[in-house]
Amino acid sequence: MIAVYPGSFDPVTLGHLDIITRTSQIADKLIVGILVNNNKQPMFTMDERLMMLNETVKGIPNVEVQTFEGMTIDFARQNGAKVIIRGLRVISDYESEMQIAQVNRSLDDSIETLFMATSLEHSFLSSTIAKEVAYYDREVEKLVPKIVADKFREKFGTKR
Ligand code: ADP
Repeated sequence: MIAVYPGSFDPVTLGHLDIITRTSQIADKLIVGILVNNNKQPMFTMDERLMMLNETVKGIPNVEVQTFEGMTIDFARQNGAKVIIRGLRVISDYESEMQIAQVNRSLDDSIETLFMATSLEHSFLSSTIAKEVAYYDREVEKLVPKIVADKFREKFGTKR
């Protein structure tokens, strides 16, 4: 089973890593897809997000990272994936995630969306929260991989 895990990963958090690690144990191959989203103004460039994700998953042999533009369903098809992974944290994730899953299913019903439940300790965690905490120079080590914490320091170091 090949699975894709699409997202903005701006930046990757320990919540994402938890989903990636757990999915890598049930999928033969997991392709993490960083979406080029023109509607969102990212904090990190595509190259930075790619570098941070590659560094974060480098110890997991069946995970690779790619970038993609356009629709997730096409990204899945191009990679021969039968499964799209999404993470669910709180109940408010449910509505939009269900909407995306239904649209994807209507576009190609041979590709399934699988929802992974977040681990309890990451249920409050998002890239936005991590950016907020980093901006105010609070401890981010429990929220993001080390490479991301370092990158935050680089970004915000002189601004505060
Ligand atoms: P998007 O902009 O597509 O929501 P994100 O990078 O924010 O991209 O998230 C990618 C996926 O990871 C989404 O399915 C999101 O619900 C999930 N996710 C984000 N943070 C967590 C977390 N702390 N625990 C579990 N899943 C998460």
